[in-house]
Amino acid sequence: MPPAHPFDDDKLKEECGVFGVVGLKDAANFVALGLHALQHRGQEAGGIVCHHPEHGFNNARRFGYVRDNFTKESLMKTLPGPLAIGHVRYSTAGSKGAAIRDVQPFFGEFSMGGAAIAHNGNITNADSLRKELIERGSIFQSSSDSECIIHLMARSLQRNIPERMEDALRRVEGAFSVVAMTRTKLIGVRDPHGVRPLVLGKLGEGWVLSSETCGLDIIGAEYLREIKPGEMVVITEDGGVESSFPFRPQPSKFCIFEHVYFSRPDSIIGGQSVYETRRQIGVELARENPVEADLVCAVPDSGTPAAIGFAHESGIPFGMGIIRNQYMGRTFIEPTEQIRNMGVRLKLNVNRSLIRGKRVILVDDSVVRGTTSRKIKEMILDAGAAEVHFRIASPPTAWPCFYGVDTPQRDKLLAATMTEDEMAEHLAVDSLKFISLDGLYRAVGEAQGRDSSCPQYCDACFSGEYPVVPADMMEKGFEMKAAE
Ligand code: SF4
Repeated sequence: MPPAHPFDDDKLKEECGVFGVVGLKDAANFVALGLHALQHRGQEAGGIVCHHPEHGFNNARRFGYVRDNFTKESLMKTLPGPLAIGHVRYSTAGSKGAAIRDVQPFFGEFSMGGAAIAHNGNITNADSLRKELIERGSIFQSSSDSECIIHLMARSLQRNIPERMEDALRRVEGAFSVVAMTRTKLIGVRDPHGVRPLVLGKLGEGWVLSSETCGLDIIGAEYLREIKPGEMVVITEDGGVESSFPFRPQPSKFCIFEHVYFSRPDSIIGGQSVYETRRQIGVELARENPVEADLVCAVPDSGTPAAIGFAHESGIPFGMGIIRNQYMGRTFIEPTEQIRNMGVRLKLNVNRSLIRGKRVILVDDSVVRGTTSRKIKEMILDAGAAEVHFRIASPPTAWPCFYGVDTPQRDKLLAATMTEDEMAEHLAVDSLKFISLDGLYRAVGEAQGRDSSCPQYCDACFSGEYPVVPADMMEKGFEMKAAE
């Protein structure tokens, strides 16, 4: 794989997307399309496992984009059958830039037949589970935390695969949205807090599971509902759907950052359009942090809906002051050092005639290390802007995520070591303001803001309040925020 583009290094990276289909001819073709729609959730690699009554299980795992691999007729012909699951990944656990053996779905052969699993999230007690499993004889094939689930299933004494999976997942802590399959069943499970998303859809006689509703849209499937926190659904080829809640109930802690950045703006979360939520974040941001200016611009594309909301609320015109080169992704031919040093300019360009002489408000979704914000500010000033004011559509990211998102170590997060004023000084901007946690909660539909006694979402990367203790990380020396 080409090295990550410098622009990508300054964003939190979601992790994985999962997709599954049962009851449709050549299900793998639908899975490939679904994974293509979920590509924003992981660009490093993708894989599909399928089952055909005569040809058994087959799989293909590849590095790179779905469109570059799973569009080839020669490959798709090797993936027949009415049942298939798939996975796109950006590695969160396991080695970075990893081997093909780390690419999911993972497959295990059990006495009652084979099973494959695709996992989105991160297991926070994976190190201790792995150690225990290896001591008891398990032979791991990959460095991925998700493989623990297969080995735990192998050790279970239950007589069918869904029950073995329940057994295995009861031992697992952290965040998981899992799509799995047996020879005849498609299975979807969410962890008891429901940290990562998973939705259920229907297409003709077939059933579909997807990380996001945009994966249903691309194949024309109807969105039925979200899989609930702690729910397991088992769907058979003839269309039977069984739902159960095998885990001890926990308060719901859906990742609030899905609303801000990870999910696609055309997806629906909690019955609400992600685009509309982001626009509302911009409205709240403008109410909380007004500033006199001439133009509101987005840092594209993720800042755009919030910038539109900001402009609407403030009455300051919105303009496309920064243009993104859509074709400048990770597929760029291995760049030379000289080209890499051009950094953000490879991906973003300033619309000079619009910017010149103006007091500009730049709306971005988040500030992680701050390296990109600084470069963008320089580009805007070079283009002749009179002032640059940053408005950020999330609270300061001061804590790492351990639930399936790639975050730099805490000391690399700008907000972990600096106050808002210090960050503004560091970035050398005329002003820098973030939406408050309460403002973000209002924007996602919690009219009363954040319930500090039991927050309605996971917001640990902003608040430092982790809904699941990150056991492995604490073992490695991570210190949680002291109780107030
Ligand atoms: S820590 Fe942040 S990114 Fe991670 S699950 Fe919680 S809200 Fe989402």
